[in-house]
Amino acid sequence: MLALQGDVREHDRALQAVGARTVHVRRVDDLDGLDGLVLPGGESTTISRLLDVFELREPLRCAVRGGLPVYGSCAGMILLADTVLDGRADQQGIGGLDVVVRRNAFGRQVDSFEADLAFTGVGDVHAVFIRAPWVESTGEGVQVLAAVGAEHPAAGRVVAVRQGPVLATSFHPELTGDHRVHGLFVRLVKEARG
Ligand code: GLN
Repeated sequence: MLALQGDVREHDRALQAVGARTVHVRRVDDLDGLDGLVLPGGESTTISRLLDVFELREPLRCAVRGGLPVYGSCAGMILLADTVLDGRADQQGIGGLDVVVRRNAFGRQVDSFEADLAFTGVGDVHAVFIRAPWVESTGEGVQVLAAVGAEHPAAGRVVAVRQGPVLATSFHPELTGDHRVHGLFVRLVKEARG
């Protein structure tokens, strides 16, 4: 768990529920020996600033490019996106996920909402969105795993993607007690380890 800001404890619980052991990453040394990394929901501009303060941005960029499995929820998705729209001017991410993400994309009326989604490889998921981003476009190697359903004003917007060992969701499965998305991530980690 990247533990600079955000809902770290909720992710911890979800990961432990699917059999993972979690450690908190705050310094470069904490990256040693990790099998995977989770970037929590929170505030991407704050996490971005703290990545500089804790000198973690470059080491994390290298780790992700080197094939470390990573899962980002919400702010974590923004940090993983290669391109961010509506970010703050000084906001920089980690990158590694070939997508364009729009920050705070769902707008004021539906700032925060819940929706049922069909999530490839997981099944039907009740998703909680909190000032969430959406994925505006995806590069070639990126698989779309879930989009907003037809009954919603933002129908069709992409909210879960995977590129190899990199997984990202606009929503927060760590908040609902349904641990299947974390279970999927643990499977990706195991696959990557062979
Ligand atoms: N809007 C937040 C951001 O820009 C993300 C919100 C969240 O993680 N729930 O980082």
